[in-house]
This record gives sequence, structure tokens and C-alpha cells, in this order.
Amino acid sequence: MRVLSNPSLAERTSLRLGGWALAEVCIEEEQDWEKLPEVLHRLGGAPLVLGRGSNVLAKDGELPLILLRVPGQKGGSWGQEETSVQALAGQSLPGFLAFLQRHSLSGLEGLTGIPGTIGGAAAMNAGSYGCSLDEYLERVQLWTPEEGLFWRKAQDVRFGYRFFDPGLQDRFWVVTRVEFKALHKEDPQAVRQNMRRVYQQKKQTQPILSRTCGCVFKNPDPESPAGALLEDCGLKGFRCGGMGFSEIHANFMVNHKRGKTHEALALIEIARERCRNRFGFELELEVRVIGD
Ligand SMILES: Cc1cc2nc3c(=O)[nH]c(=O)nc-3n(C[C@H](O)[C@H](O)[C@H](O)COP(=O)(O)OP(=O)(O)OC[C@H]3O[C@@H](n4cnc5c(N)ncnc54)[C@H](O)[C@@H]3O)c2cc1C
Repeated sequence: MRVLSNPSLAERTSLRLGGWALAEVCIEEEQDWEKLPEVLHRLGGAPLVLGRGSNVLAKDGELPLILLRVPGQKGGSWGQEETSVQALAGQSLPGFLAFLQRHSLSGLEGLTGIPGTIGGAAAMNAGSYGCSLDEYLERVQLWTPEEGLFWRKAQDVRFGYRFFDPGLQDRFWVVTRVEFKALHKEDPQAVRQNMRRVYQQKKQTQPILSRTCGCVFKNPDPESPAGALLEDCGLKGFRCGGMGFSEIHANFMVNHKRGKTHEALALIEIARERCRNRFGFELELEVRVIGD
């Protein structure tokens, strides 16, 4: 395994914000998992798994964290059935979707345009355009310091909207591998068309090429998307220093240039206050604020 001192969060997150963690541990081979408890103990600090950092808002300064990076691979490997496929948690989600397309497997096209890793997508139960990861999950391989590596079936995991709970109480857990099921054979051109359609739709309605973390807040319910509520509160395009809510989609926060974490947090507070005063409820964060 590789261990690096003082990794920059700004360099590892899509918002390009944040200070430094104490260390970064990169798992490189299967045996590294056995050594990991001792390494984490020696380094001190709270372990935090970081994928591509596309759903993370990191605080400034020195953060008492040990970043854990898990391995990926190109493509995927075949699971227990002909239409089930496994991917390592560090594999990129877009790269995995391209692999499915090449193998004529349909089902997950709605996830097109979501950056990040397979592990991050599982831990967030990522979803869009009526498709969420849990619908196609057969089982997930996890690691805990106490049990090492083990598989858990999808029916033994609790899922919800951007919610994944493998039922390990307060233990530190890591998604290391995911197996998808029930993908169906389809003409590869049709899969490509579906992916292209989703991507084009997103490009027109979301600032997917800017420095963002995707949606800042969860939708209170499907009928009341947070973006529409924020727009009603006059926050579309609203800026605080170098950070602002997007002109295209009010629930996307954009780092325009040299934005700061304190400006991002101030925007979040303003949005919550306006929403509370206008609609009488609290917006819940979708982005993970780290370094508290
Ligand atoms: C332009 C843009 C568009 C987006 N659109 C969408 C969308 O449509 N739908 C959607 O759901 N999300 C969207 N997102 C948010 C984000 O891409 C997803 O949540 C993504 O799945 C996060 O993956 P990641 O690898 O970047 O995770 P990270 O941001 O690195 O981590 C997110 C959380 O998951 C945990 N985590 C990561 N990997 C693991 C692991 N292996 N084991 C355990 N925990 C882990 C982290 O500790 C953290 O709490 C968007 C983001 C951007 C920037």
C-alpha cells in the first residue's frame, strides 16, 4: 500500500475546496487489507473513504482525517449469472457504464453523467432519471477492521434516497466491490443512444462541466425538487464571493474561481434560512461536509 502525508482535499474533490488530511492510504493489492488496521492505528485520525470526491465539501485547514483510497480496474468482471457483473469499488462509474455498453448490457443508463466511483455510487445510492443503483444491486463486498472482507446481499442492506446502510452500526466500513444483477441484453447501439440522451438532457439542465458537487440538498419530496424551492427563494445564480448557486440549476453550487469553503457554508446557511422562512421546513444536505 502507498501512504502519503498531508494530501490536499482541494486537489481530490470536484469542488476544488478544502485543506489537508493527515495522510492518505492507497490500497494496492488484496493483502493490504490485512495490514490496514495496524496502519490506521499507527497513523491516528479518523479514516474516511474518498472516491473521486464528487459529493464532498471539505473544510479548510488541517483535518484530523486519514483518507482511504480503494483500488479499481478497467471494465468489470462477470458475476454469478450471465447478466451479472462485478466492479471494484475504485472503478470509475462512467468507465463501468461504458464497459456495460460495449457488452450490450442495459439497465444502468440513467446513471450516465454521474461522476465518481462505483464505491461512492453505492455508498450514496446514487441515482438519476428514475434509475438508482440499489435496483440492480445483487450484493456488495465490504471491509471492516473487525471482520476483514465479506459479502452482504442486497436484501440485507437498507437503501433509501441517497441512503445506504449495511447495518454495521457505528463500525467503520468500506465498500470494496459491487455485483450488479438483472441487467438485460440489448443492442449496444440502443444502450449508447440511451446514454447519449441522458447525457444531453443533463448537459442542458445542469452545470455538469463546472466545478460542482452535484446537488447540494436532497429533494424534500419528488414533487418539490430542492432546485425549484431554491429558485423560488431567489437563489438561482446567487453568489457569495467565489461560490454561487448555478444559473442553470439552483441546487448545484459552483466554484466560479478561487471560491472558499466558508463561502460555500455561508451559501448553505442562507439557503436553509430562506427555505425555512418561506416554506417552514429544513433542507437536508445531500453533499457530505467533511472535516467536522
Ligand atoms: C456534475 C455532477 C453531477 C452529479 N450528478 C449526480 C446525480 O445525478 N445523481 C447522484 O446521485 N449524484 C450525483 N452527483 C454526486 C456524486 O457524483 C455521486 O454521489 C457519486 O456517486 C459520488 O462518488 P464519489 O466516488 O465521488 O464519492 P465521494 O464524493 O468521494 O464520497 C461520497 C461519500 O461516499 C463515501 N464513499 C466513497 N467511496 C466509498 C467506499 N468505497 N466505501 C464506503 N464509503 C465510500 C465517502 O466517504 C463519502 O461519504 C453529481 C456530482 C457532480 C459533480
